[in-house]
Amino acid sequence: MSQTVLVINSGSSSIKYQLIDPATGDGIAKGLVEKIGESEGHIQHKYGDAIVDLHEPVADHEAGMREVLRLFDEVGPNLAESHVVAVGHRIVQGGKYFDGPALITDEVRGLIQELCALAPLHNPAHLKGIDVARELMSDIPHVAVFDTAFFRQLPEATATYALDRATAEKFSVRRYGAHGTSHQFVSTRVGELLGRSDLRQIVLHLGNGASVSAVDAGRAIDTSMGLTPLEGLVMGTRTGDIDPAVVFHLRRQGGMLVDELDDLFNKKSGLKGLTGNNDMRAVRLMAEGPKGAERDRARLALDIVVTRIVKYIGSYTAELGGLDVLTFTAGIGENDADLRREVCERLAPFGVSIDADANAARSDEARTISTDDSTVRVMVVPTNEELAIARQALTLV
Ligand code: ADP
Repeated sequence: MSQTVLVINSGSSSIKYQLIDPATGDGIAKGLVEKIGESEGHIQHKYGDAIVDLHEPVADHEAGMREVLRLFDEVGPNLAESHVVAVGHRIVQGGKYFDGPALITDEVRGLIQELCALAPLHNPAHLKGIDVARELMSDIPHVAVFDTAFFRQLPEATATYALDRATAEKFSVRRYGAHGTSHQFVSTRVGELLGRSDLRQIVLHLGNGASVSAVDAGRAIDTSMGLTPLEGLVMGTRTGDIDPAVVFHLRRQGGMLVDELDDLFNKKSGLKGLTGNNDMRAVRLMAEGPKGAERDRARLALDIVVTRIVKYIGSYTAELGGLDVLTFTAGIGENDADLRREVCERLAPFGVSIDADANAARSDEARTISTDDSTVRVMVVPTNEELAIARQALTLV
């Protein structure tokens, strides 16, 4: 067996993991631990044809990680014989410190901890995963791979908010972006597939969380997520762009507290707030359902989603000074042919045209869906954040 990397994504109440062969891209085994700290936990481990589901309480991240290692022992593959050369940890916020992957030392751990103020939901949860994994797998190098790293090189003009300079500096308020691992992976893949390094690209990562980036010759020059993943496109449960004065208004008129507003904007808005459901497939079903208020709401939500995407494509094309490739990725981007068609139809006045059959065809492969005479090449390129993390981790060991 060739070298492998164990990729870990540790959340506040979950640990997702995958053992990957970075050379072939094969996922050898994967699983998740859910509902950590709750009365009923769930652990799933998949290896080959074997799927093990355990329903048992998982006290904390350490207990969860111990169970995962036990499942590797019992169900396979045996980690000691799997040539695990690194453990790659996904980290949401790398702030101003990290423009690439970092070997986790006590110093790096300290910086990730310092950045908890900027990502209070994510970085503390990542640290729990890092600490138990480093303790239980102390003989393997651990590498942090940051969601923000690809955007560390954003030009100052797109990274800086027009906020009072002293306040912004004091509280580290600037645009860090997110989903960078995916935007980098996909834009690099497009360059490889087309054999060009000079492309002006827009990448639409449309999943439950959604973001768009403008990439010029491999360098990100703008992206829609900002200080946090709240800014930008309309998402499953997040508002995306909204006048910040809505916060003042709801505070003054509605008496809402900051935690309530955080919850409202991050968890109860977007598709969910507009239709009652955050899942795009469910919203599509509502939009095609019987005439009535539910159908109207779903159709309006889809219109808002598409309009926001088109607005970003227009502005990023202007920023890039033209556009060579527009790429769709992630759950919605890869699977929702209707959304791709709706977006591209709005771009028809600019000469963008897609082939209806190519767009409708289902495939797990990277593919072009535009016609030969389209002014912009339109592609669908599946993202693979775990593989991207594994490959980045491998560069440091
Ligand atoms: P996450 O951000 O949680 O990783 P994903 O990238 O898995 O999200 O994307 C999840 C979204 O993709 C959901 O809104 C889901 O409805 C949507 N999706 C998946 N398959 C389809 C499909 N065939 N048509 C429309 N939407 C889809």
